[in-house]
Amino acid sequence: MTERIGMDGDAGRLRGRCLCGGVSLSVPADTRDVDVCHCGACRRWHGGPAMVLHAGGDLRIEAGDDRVRRYPSSAWAERAFCAVCGSGLFFRLTGDDQAFVPAGLFDAIPGARLHSEIFTDAQPGWYAFAGRRERLTEAEFLARVGTAG
Ligand SMILES: [Zn+2]
Ligand SMILES: [Zn+2]
Repeated sequence: MTERIGMDGDAGRLRGRCLCGGVSLSVPADTRDVDVCHCGACRRWHGGPAMVLHAGGDLRIEAGDDRVRRYPSSAWAERAFCAVCGSGLFFRLTGDDQAFVPAGLFDAIPGARLHSEIFTDAQPGWYAFAGRRERLTEAEFLARVGTAG
């Protein structure tokens, strides 16, 4: 929401926006790992597999906070979208404040790379991403992040 100046200004942030432009947000400028999630909830919400940047606890809504709607998609996470254009804005683990932002919101992501694929056991057979990277099933992923149920 706030415009920051000085050492912590725009130079240190990667900015994205929704389709209507009403909501803009930012993540640290060195964010470049794109993670793919094949789970059923992500595919329903995104219309396909999710491709998201891991912003950690450092996601900022720079403008348009009044347009941000939050949907509690599970007991431990929420999904936010723009009330005007419907663009997905972020997925957030409410317990430890870890945010994941759709990579498509950003015009450019310097050094972007596909980092990992998760919920691979939920992936339909009719698409696949080329190349090799870490792949985790639902059970493997949940064991790693310590979230169950
Ligand atoms: Zn919008
Ligand atoms: Zn997912």
